[in-house]
Amino acid sequence: MTDAADIPIRVRPEIAALPPYKQGRQAGDEAFKLSSNENPFDPLPGVVEAIRAATSVNRYPDASATRLRTRLAERYGVALDDVHVGAGSVSILAQLVQATCAPGDEVVYAWRSFEAYPWLAVVAGATAVHVPLTEDSRHDLPAMSAAITDRTRVVIVCSPNNPTGPVVTQEEFDAFALTVPDDVLIVLDEAYAEFVTDPAAVDGTRVLSAARHPNVVVLRTFSKAFGLAGLRVGYAIGHPRILDAARSTTIPLSVTAQAEEAALASLDAEEELLERVRAIAERRDRVVAGLRDAGWRVPDAQGNFVWLPAHDETLAVAQAFDDGGLIVRPFAGDGIRITIGEEESTEKVLAVAAAAVRDLP
Ligand code: PMP
Repeated sequence: MTDAADIPIRVRPEIAALPPYKQGRQAGDEAFKLSSNENPFDPLPGVVEAIRAATSVNRYPDASATRLRTRLAERYGVALDDVHVGAGSVSILAQLVQATCAPGDEVVYAWRSFEAYPWLAVVAGATAVHVPLTEDSRHDLPAMSAAITDRTRVVIVCSPNNPTGPVVTQEEFDAFALTVPDDVLIVLDEAYAEFVTDPAAVDGTRVLSAARHPNVVVLRTFSKAFGLAGLRVGYAIGHPRILDAARSTTIPLSVTAQAEEAALASLDAEEELLERVRAIAERRDRVVAGLRDAGWRVPDAQGNFVWLPAHDETLAVAQAFDDGGLIVRPFAGDGIRITIGEEESTEKVLAVAAAAVRDLP
């Protein structure tokens, strides 16, 4: 291979310095994979059948995923153009950032939050501005509001927050949105919305139907509650003027016919799938209670994952999980995110966590 120094292609310096997106570790056959907030249930037979029956793979899909958008528009009581579908909600977020940010414009978000936020901002040539979470791992919305400058184009609110777990309440969100200038896009990332059991939590669909904040776009996904992470399909709901801008930046034809059919079949089976979601949420609450009993200071968990603030011991504790056949997601120096997975994994999680807390200095 030619020496890298002899390839004179000019890569943008911020891209050359950017590590590629890192996903949670894959697990071997023996281990439980609790590192990527996936759904542990196998797909429903009806969903598998819909994928099999989808348009033959030698044909391109419908570029605007009209059937799925129509179905979602009916479900949420909005117009067809108020819905946009993408190859995962993360790709829609990338489109929104690209559509609104020129070099030097700012994207404000809480930190720690979803790893992709700073990465998407940098790729778009924008400046990533992160605002530390509060002591109890929640969004500090007044501080986020104060971080907005005349270069801010996008503010991202993640509820429930990945990886720490708490939600933003409806009341907090409404008060915050009123402080955000009308020309700043608020992205409300609700990838884990279906797992939320706190009635005070913000609900993006309610925000939109009340038409209180026209600069809000809500992001949701079929990857988590609906168990279609491998097929890559998510959606946004918001004003068509904003979504048209996202549509203009879309890489054409990236939502496959298989993904569209699987999403439609999942909506047909929504009740059954939400039953599974309820089982995961109950499991989550049991794990949180067990971890707290063991002495961990676990923040409120409203997604399909829990957060262990292990601080400087993070890598050592993650190794203990690994040794116990549990692949978790460590964030060095900060904490560990553990996905709520198979029922059989929960006792193991609690046993390793209880032993690890005793070993903490
Ligand atoms: N938002 C958040 C907060 C997430 O945690 C994730 C996935 N980890 C996504 C968005 C992206 O999900 P997808 O692209 O699979 O829809």
